[in-house]
Amino acid sequence: MPTLRLSLPLSAPRTSLLHSSRRFFSAGFSRLFPSCYPREKLQRDCRRVQLFLKTEVLLRSLSPRLRLFSRFYTRMDKNKAMVEYLQRYGVLRSDRVAEVMEMIDRALFVPKENPPYLDSPMPIGYNATISAPHMHALCLELLKDHLQPGMRALDVGSGSGYLTACFAMMVGPEGRAVGIEHIPELVAASIENVKRSAATPLLEKGSLSLHVADGRYGWPEAAPYDTIHVGAAAPEIPKALLDQLKPGGRMVIPVGDLFQDLQVVDKKLDGSIISRNETGVRYVPLTSRSAQLQNS
Ligand code: SAH
Repeated sequence: MPTLRLSLPLSAPRTSLLHSSRRFFSAGFSRLFPSCYPREKLQRDCRRVQLFLKTEVLLRSLSPRLRLFSRFYTRMDKNKAMVEYLQRYGVLRSDRVAEVMEMIDRALFVPKENPPYLDSPMPIGYNATISAPHMHALCLELLKDHLQPGMRALDVGSGSGYLTACFAMMVGPEGRAVGIEHIPELVAASIENVKRSAATPLLEKGSLSLHVADGRYGWPEAAPYDTIHVGAAAPEIPKALLDQLKPGGRMVIPVGDLFQDLQVVDKKLDGSIISRNETGVRYVPLTSRSAQLQNS
């Protein structure tokens, strides 16, 4: 009994596949087969082949989208695995911070050539780095009580925009998250990063904004802040930042030169300041633009 075989070139254009098969089946196909091949069986087999071709065409047209979805979900799985690692490691303790770090995919903020989920700082250009995931987790944990819905947050040296996006998600649409960064190209890139992230509606609404500015002077327009995070090491705490911290607010800032202490600075309701060292850290310096770009 003859078998009906059709070999289809994989590169054949989708629509022409179906059209040529229609032409083939409507052009008196029964003449091509010996009479011992029962007509009904032949018709049934042909219908099966046509169905197969239609499914094939449909699958081919869907597959780029399916591939995109599967890549998105794989990436989100890896981001989740990073969050779970930080929980096991003990630095990530609260559900709130874990949730926000799951929602804001780190891969969107790390330049493509670097592994985004590795627990290490990564270069973002202009002698700057995106901080390591454990440092982001630590700072978010230290600041979480001052990142309640409706509160105001300032991210000095916002770099990739990752932490500003996390702050924005935590303070929500009624709050305000401001990132300031003195390299204009990094600000432009961070806006593009945020646009691809879950924080994009907050950027559109204006509760999240990123600006080119010298962080040593803060951003008085939206002061006072419940939270101030400084992502670059200052020789001492800039006075402007202390002034822009709300009574009851908290600042996290690396202080020192080569070796620095991550200081947690609380402004009490009477305006007095208390601070403590959380841990030893290595951040890029909070400096002038020209000093930063000197060795680039
Ligand atoms: N939290 C950021 C850290 C970026 S590294 C992230 O994880 O992506 C520190 C950033 O501080 C750099 O982008 C650097 O350009 C910026 N910076 C250094 N001095 C600054 C200053 N005086 N004003 C504003 N930004 C500054």
